[in-house]
Amino acid sequence: MKIFETHAHLDFSNFNKDREDLIRKCFQSGIEYIINIGIDETTSRAGIELAGQYERIYATVGFHPHDADKFEEKLLRSLIMEPKVVGIGEIGLDYYRNYSPPDLQKKVFQHQVEIAVELDYPIVIHDREAHEDCWDILKDYNPHKVVFHCFSGDYLFASRIVDQGWLISVPGTITYKNNQLQEVVRNLPIESIMIETDSPFLSPIPVRRKRNSPLNLRYIIEKIAEIKGLSPNHVAEKTYENAVEFFLSHKKRL
Ligand SMILES: [Zn+2]
Repeated sequence: MKIFETHAHLDFSNFNKDREDLIRKCFQSGIEYIINIGIDETTSRAGIELAGQYERIYATVGFHPHDADKFEEKLLRSLIMEPKVVGIGEIGLDYYRNYSPPDLQKKVFQHQVEIAVELDYPIVIHDREAHEDCWDILKDYNPHKVVFHCFSGDYLFASRIVDQGWLISVPGTITYKNNQLQEVVRNLPIESIMIETDSPFLSPIPVRRKRNSPLNLRYIIEKIAEIKGLSPNHVAEKTYENAVEFFLSHKKRL
């Protein structure tokens, strides 16, 4: 079984004690690639460094809405040019926590989308209780490749995303009882779905209270397989193909 982890924060201090060991286990367990996601300058740089150490780890760089005030265009443009950076993210809007004022979040998000479109890079979206504003900003620029990470909308919103040729990404919350993500996954084509753990967060059942790691992707694969009536192998394979096409087929226009 080939597995593609599309969203992890392995640079976080939660992994300081056993990072090397864990990454080795991941690659031994069928995980082929891991995308390490940046949320600010420090984590973007740490992701680039990690990707430099492991052939099958890649990085995205960007400024999360919580850190909107830290955004610098010059800095982002220089981070993007680093080898093994395969996307911009996670970027977007977060009206749940509102750690940054919404107007600033929007401005910074817009600016980063503009850069992604100019350079033709895939975009990883963080959207928390901000579906319509995320949608409006994206539609203004019509990027080619967009994934809504930890998708939290309903099926109607998911359909609009998929109709654009964009994707949603499914985390461990799919294993929780009574959540609308199960309904979304049931009704969407597997071609529009990628999988992620968002490690160290969002551990799936049955390891819910523990630190999350890419090793737990198998619980997500099993749940999607059950919901969609597919074999776990098929789910792993299709989501792997989707992620290779999304992140790794990208050609830099330089
Ligand atoms: Zn994340």
